[in-house]
Amino acid sequence: MRSLWQDSEANEYRGDLALRVYTSRLLGRDKTLVLHGGGNTSVKIRERNLVGDEEDILYVKGSGWDLEFIEAAGFSPVRMPHLLRLAELKALSDPQMVNELVTHLTRATAPAPSVETILHALLPHKYVDHTHSDAVLAVTNTADGPRRIAEIYGDKVVVIPYVMPGFDLARLCAELFPQQARPTTIGMVLLNHGIFSFGATAREAYERMIELVDLAERYLEKQRAWHLPAPAAAPSRVQSLAIVALRNQVSHCAGNPMIVSTQCNDRTLAFARRPDIATISQQGPATPDHVIRTKRLPMVGRDVASYAAAYREYFARNAAQARDPKTILDAAPRVVIDPELGVCAIGRTVKDAHIVADLYDHTIDVIQRSTLLGGYRGLPARDIFDVEYWDLEQAKLRKAGAAPPFAGEVALVTGAASGIGKACVDALHARGAAVVGLDVDAKITSLCKRPDFLGIRCDITSRNAVVEAIESAVRTYGGLDMLVLNAGIFPGGNGIADLDDTAWRNVMNVNLDCNLMLLRECHPLLKLAPRGARVAVIGSKNVPAPGPGAAAYSASKAALTQLARVAALEWGADNIRVNTLHPNAVFDTAIWSDEVLASRAAHYGLTVEQYKRNNVLKTEVTSRDVAALAAELCGPLFAKTTGAQIPVDGGNERVI
Ligand SMILES: [Zn+2]
Repeated sequence: MRSLWQDSEANEYRGDLALRVYTSRLLGRDKTLVLHGGGNTSVKIRERNLVGDEEDILYVKGSGWDLEFIEAAGFSPVRMPHLLRLAELKALSDPQMVNELVTHLTRATAPAPSVETILHALLPHKYVDHTHSDAVLAVTNTADGPRRIAEIYGDKVVVIPYVMPGFDLARLCAELFPQQARPTTIGMVLLNHGIFSFGATAREAYERMIELVDLAERYLEKQRAWHLPAPAAAPSRVQSLAIVALRNQVSHCAGNPMIVSTQCNDRTLAFARRPDIATISQQGPATPDHVIRTKRLPMVGRDVASYAAAYREYFARNAAQARDPKTILDAAPRVVIDPELGVCAIGRTVKDAHIVADLYDHTIDVIQRSTLLGGYRGLPARDIFDVEYWDLEQAKLRKAGAAPPFAGEVALVTGAASGIGKACVDALHARGAAVVGLDVDAKITSLCKRPDFLGIRCDITSRNAVVEAIESAVRTYGGLDMLVLNAGIFPGGNGIADLDDTAWRNVMNVNLDCNLMLLRECHPLLKLAPRGARVAVIGSKNVPAPGPGAAAYSASKAALTQLARVAALEWGADNIRVNTLHPNAVFDTAIWSDEVLASRAAHYGLTVEQYKRNNVLKTEVTSRDVAALAAELCGPLFAKTTGAQIPVDGGNERVI
């Protein structure tokens, strides 16, 4: 492991706290040290307060911040003398501790200080860094971990046996640290949890962390437990339906739709197919705080009912021995290991699923290295339970607040790169859905840079391309709950007398045939949507009120509407709702070129501006208006509605 410190970068950070920010970010940049809010850092600074008194302040990482992106505002300033007195107490409950920390901040708007604040305070060094280094965990999480740690570090570190994080850990360190610390001591190993380093400067503490972790890495190398053989697994033809069925079961078990992100590659398949997988994967997480994301154990195979039964049994057994009454969390797995699927990461949102995927990706390395070192050993289930059901950890999850209406759900939108389709992507995102956008336009792949958007360049006239797109949607998010059939073409006005067969066929193909194919290919997925699926069809005012010169367009949308009505009849039994919108005069879409707009306006003897508001309400209908209604059609307001046709046109005399 190499230090990432660069003088040129460091020079931009001036002052003790700024350098604390810099080296915290350096730690955060290395994913083998900390992941997603893991680890914490601090600096002790003497400051003059408003009334002129000098105060010793501990700036410690606030909860909710990732080291990689932390800023000065992410550090909570807590008065040191009070922390040191708290450390002398025999006992301190979690609510008391949280209260004491928050009431001794010097900035009212600071985030809640880390649960390890008291521990940071009592380590007698200016800068303190704490990580959950993969290499250190690979060594400590073995049967003879303590012996190996002593062999690697000697007097360089103080070794603390595992104890629950928080006040108990601070108390134990307060007792053991002074006993074990030597002049050569530069860090502290918490068995089965992680490692601390400290120093007089930000650079010293950081580079000592690198030095200590590097020692663990070199030890693993010497023991032939560092390099993992490059995996080569017989490829697996991922069965989309198997993933969709898994998501259905997991969502029902969780009580909410869940995102299932499938990592099916050489590495995950080789791991999932290890002959010892049933043993090595069932020892517990690499470090306890992973439990709130990954649960204690991954599910091996796809038997969700058995997994849930075992989870409930684990809860009952451990809750009976807990100090306070506990309420069971959902019993659904968050990691699934399967010889055909590889590793699936599960979360309420795409972000949650990605966090699970990252944590487990590192866990795979830790487990395999510990196994090479003689055997991976996790903590007893009881210890993991205490962290999983620790109020302070549960509070972190609760802070997320109420979930948006489409949380955990997946929508597919065709023609998503512009106009109504793009607006539908935004409307569905705003309601919490993950969105898969298809379009022939290459710009779809970079339409939104966010994990809950998958843009696929896809010509929907090709069945193979559509099937492939659906497969990649399923691998990415796990299934399909909503389908917005929006892609369509509107050729320039042409009377029937001048309409050639090719132009007619082309419009029918894109506006009608392709939607039939999409409906058919998506049906097996929609049937397995955990809360029932919804299809929103973008029709046209031309269905109830066609216009001259638009024969192919009007006929194709009329046939599409009829197709949607039949789908509503046939698929009601599958709990799939199908509704159609009839927009009119939506001019911020790709099909309305200036030329077409001018020609249609002229046709009615209006200016373009008059033409845009040529409706009963004299209002302009935008893509956003149509998209908002399409999204609402998929929501709870329309839960009892299927087969409907709703105009969104500002009121049209011919339609009314
Ligand atoms: Zn920790």
